[in-house]
Amino acid sequence: MFDFSGKTAVVTGASRGIGEAIVRQLDAGGARVALVARSADKLEAIAAELTNDPLVLATDLSDPASVEQISTAVLDAFGGLDILVNNAAVERNEPAHRATAEAIDETLFVNLRQPFLLSSAFAKSLFASQGAIVNISSIASTGAGGTQGAYAASKGGLNTLTKNLANEWANKGVRVNGVAPGLVDTEMWESTFERLGEDAVRSTFTKGVPMQRWGTADEIADVACFLASDKASYVTGQTIKVDGGRTNL
Ligand code: NAP
Repeated sequence: MFDFSGKTAVVTGASRGIGEAIVRQLDAGGARVALVARSADKLEAIAAELTNDPLVLATDLSDPASVEQISTAVLDAFGGLDILVNNAAVERNEPAHRATAEAIDETLFVNLRQPFLLSSAFAKSLFASQGAIVNISSIASTGAGGTQGAYAASKGGLNTLTKNLANEWANKGVRVNGVAPGLVDTEMWESTFERLGEDAVRSTFTKGVPMQRWGTADEIADVACFLASDKASYVTGQTIKVDGGRTNL
């Protein structure tokens, strides 16, 4: 576990899966965490189990007003910020010839535009705290998977944003890094399981992983928390793949 005593953090997509795991690890390390997602009931249930006076912000990141709502509420409550984790994402798996403008816009908006604007909204606070940003990307950012055009493009853009902000803010003392998960057992896969059958999807995809298994949300959170922690004090601009070797093949 990493030491986050006295630190404050924002985690988007905190209501389940990887975001929930990151929240729980940050809290266990001593951080006071603001939990952002749409599902107020789920956020409240997680917050009730945390120890460091968490803040629940039930907000829809597809709403343009959400960035200002989040930054105002967090800075009012915390007075500053040490760690921003941009984790929330829309995932769509559909052939490019059926993609709609609305679906492309929403995916790029939630997965790329809002992480950029949240980083910008918290920039001065992060400069003051010598803070860290962690962007949760995907191995889909290589674009090699197929039928995930908007999602893959949003994550490729996020990787580029990570490098750009890292270089731009290095001399302000702010580190910016990313984690690119491979196959992780979360609700993000439910629509794919429904479409193609859970057993078939699990066994087909497992064959493409040298470690022969899916990852857990905690295994992604471990790396995200390392990057957010002082233990990664000389790491910036990196997006670390956590994929059981899948992209080595
Ligand atoms: P998940 O279980 O589907 O969780 C997604 C989270 O994002 C939820 O907390 C959801 O909360 C939130 N969210 C989605 N749209 C939102 C919106 N408009 N406003 C606010 N919050 C929103 O997915 P996950 O697997 O934990 O994914 C977390 C991150 O890992 C994502 O960036 C994803 O791209 C990345 N990733 C996952 C995998 C994988 O295999 N699972 C692989 C590669 C990358 P509400 O529904 O309550 O709003």
